[in-house]
Amino acid sequence: MVPLTDLRAITREVSEEIQAAWQQVVAGSAFIGGPFVEAFEQAWAGYCGTRAAVGVGNGTDAIALTLRALGIGPGDEVIVPANTFVATAEAVVLVGAVPRFVDVDPSTLLVTTETLETGVNERTAAVIVVHLYGNIPAMDAIQRWAEAKKLAVVEDAAQAHGSTRRGRKAGSFGVAGCFSFYPGKNLGAFGDAGAVVTDDEALSDRIRSISNHGRSASHDSHTVVGTNSRLDGLQAAVLSCKLPLLDAWNNARRDAVATYRRLLVNQGVHLVEAPCESAHYQNVALVPGRDRVRDRLRAYGIETGVHYPMPCHKHEPYRRYAPEPLPVAEQAADEILSLPLFPHMTEEQIRHVCGCLNRLGSELERAG
Ligand SMILES: *Cc1c(COP(=O)(O)O)cnc(C)c1O
Repeated sequence: MVPLTDLRAITREVSEEIQAAWQQVVAGSAFIGGPFVEAFEQAWAGYCGTRAAVGVGNGTDAIALTLRALGIGPGDEVIVPANTFVATAEAVVLVGAVPRFVDVDPSTLLVTTETLETGVNERTAAVIVVHLYGNIPAMDAIQRWAEAKKLAVVEDAAQAHGSTRRGRKAGSFGVAGCFSFYPGKNLGAFGDAGAVVTDDEALSDRIRSISNHGRSASHDSHTVVGTNSRLDGLQAAVLSCKLPLLDAWNNARRDAVATYRRLLVNQGVHLVEAPCESAHYQNVALVPGRDRVRDRLRAYGIETGVHYPMPCHKHEPYRRYAPEPLPVAEQAADEILSLPLFPHMTEEQIRHVCGCLNRLGSELERAG
């Protein structure tokens, strides 16, 4: 059996240390906010190379809180790629704005200035760049483009903990970087958690206030109608224990992807290009006849995934936000196949997967 991922092996590496940390959280009753949350926020801002980090309840809230703190809401449009996890678009709708879906580059499946341009109109307030599968697009060009149009760039870095491009970490390019620490992400909590990183301390103060019932710094007055989306102490302690291992885990993923690239020789299977030093949240191939190939791999004991089977604008509640077809995202949805990838993967496991992929022939024919 080759699983798609192996969260248990990651948990095993840190579980003793986390249990000791949890005893301290419990001894101090430091459950919401407090020293464990502050320590992780500092460590995470330091890791990402930003001035501030605000712990929040989950990745969806990280995006929605950022948009609210930027003053984005009813009457505004926010550009998002069509081929992302639905939460990116969901956060836009949650703040009362309209998501405007755009297409992506066929070799990276990431937005470019050309695809972003198709979504711009007089109501556009921001773009959310998604570092899909851990891959950071050409941020320098995108930021120059956005600056000229006076659009805020928000990063959805929920799949890119530790990805770097030209020495800069995911989350540090835009006005804010939004992270999810859902257990299966490259840095995962023992439940739901999230964070926003930013260099703009006025922005981080507003996010902190909105996420904590609209509280002012003095704690006693509520200056806006906020919500409750805070990072709790037990999760912060988990994240602080895991953070020192993140680079080693990401490097192990990079080594595994390099081995895949070396061993995979079937010309019909194309690994999606990573135009940066990716954290490789997923190792995705474009495979014609994807569903047949999946069945075949399953028969050999290989588990695969599809991230994601339908682009956002094909889901019922989001259909009205995509007036035009988005052919690259739509075709990719039929061909993307997430291959097994996790830090503890062995070369033997990669050989088994690549051996099966290399033997594929007629399965790889495009249907109709
Ligand atoms: C996981 C994920 C989110 C949402 O994070 P949650 O913590 O589940 O709310 C948002 N965007 C992308 C791209 C994700 O992968």
